[in-house]
Amino acid sequence: MFWQPKIEKMPPKSLLEIQTRRLKETIKNVFEKNTFYRRKILEKGLRPTDIKKVDQLEMLPFTTKLDFRENYPFGLLACSMSKVVRLHASSGTTGDPTIVAYTRGDVENWTDCIARCLTMTGVTEKDVFQVILGYGLFTGGLGFHYGAEKIGATVVPSATGNTRRQVKLMRDLKVTAFTSIPSYTLYLAETAKASGIDPEKDLNINSVSCGAEVWSEATRRRIEKEFGCKAYNSYGLSEVCGPGVAFECSMQDGLHLWSDHFLAEIIDPKTGERLEVEEEGELVLTTLTREAMPLLRYRTGDLTKILDGPCNCGRTHQRIGWIKGRCDDMLKVRGVNLFPSQIEAAIMGLEGVGNSYQILISRREHLDEVTVEVEATEGSWGEGESSTEELAERVRTEIRAVTGLNIQVKIVPPSSIPRVEGKVKRVVRGDVETA
Ligand SMILES: [Zn+2]
Repeated sequence: MFWQPKIEKMPPKSLLEIQTRRLKETIKNVFEKNTFYRRKILEKGLRPTDIKKVDQLEMLPFTTKLDFRENYPFGLLACSMSKVVRLHASSGTTGDPTIVAYTRGDVENWTDCIARCLTMTGVTEKDVFQVILGYGLFTGGLGFHYGAEKIGATVVPSATGNTRRQVKLMRDLKVTAFTSIPSYTLYLAETAKASGIDPEKDLNINSVSCGAEVWSEATRRRIEKEFGCKAYNSYGLSEVCGPGVAFECSMQDGLHLWSDHFLAEIIDPKTGERLEVEEEGELVLTTLTREAMPLLRYRTGDLTKILDGPCNCGRTHQRIGWIKGRCDDMLKVRGVNLFPSQIEAAIMGLEGVGNSYQILISRREHLDEVTVEVEATEGSWGEGESSTEELAERVRTEIRAVTGLNIQVKIVPPSSIPRVEGKVKRVVRGDVETA
């Protein structure tokens, strides 16, 4: 199913024409209306008219998270405040939050992007769609809310918190699709079971859209099994608009990135050099239709790749792979690069492993030492010590197969790792030990 079939199935040549026109307009716009970008462009020795083609994108300067901070709150604005109808902010862990402004046109485009995403996963006006994401300054709740409403679905804006009530609403209101964070989606399933509700049999869920956290194919299969539904991967970031930047179609083979609104590049995060299709690196996005805060070559900090070839669903918009992690999530263990997502992919597919895990890091002699705490399922924990020993060995073997590293594994009781009603913290850094 398509929300905007003409655009979604547009021949690549026509799509390129639109991208070229919009890129030129965006550059002209920021040069004329934003002093930060005017200075950046001039520093590169460029005039706005120098960029005539999409493949000249590399000549333009990067924009970073630091630029948002240094220009807090409105230094990246490219229109007058009277045109701004909404502000969102990302949770800055340090310093000022990142402020993002939207014109009416920006909100409309964003809403259409979400409507495309949800339609692609089968959501229609017949669905009851629960939004289990934060409302407010965080973009997730309102983004999905307006997109689902535009399709005509019945929206249940239950936001976050009160997990038992979330499940009760899901059952009583006959919810058919929802969006949430992947770790919390598994927690919803656990809570349902604890309240005597079988998520697969007693609920009517057809699809769930998950994002805002690094997860893997293994967790997807787990969610699909728990709810007896399809689970789709959702990608977005507040600086660029929020959710709806890229999303999986029914093929579940990469995320379509809406190429009429965003230009994607993959670069080497260390050198800034452009990488080829199918090469893994940092995703860089240029917005093509943003009016309030257009961005040139924004370094997302997210690691992924652009996938090669067309998709069988008929959409011509390019696809990106699963987000492997943030560039700064990388751990160095005995000289080997390790991403938490690799641990996730290794363990979440194993029989006997429960729904949560933690990666504990300690530093010894300037090296990261890693212990993975893995929850057992009720079944595997109940069978006693020899069974948990056997599980630990299987987990170790699988992690070694995926990462090449021998990592300490500790099996812990089911539901013993604290559950959170928001983004889960998988990596916990312990005290620094000095030799
Ligand atoms: Zn597709």
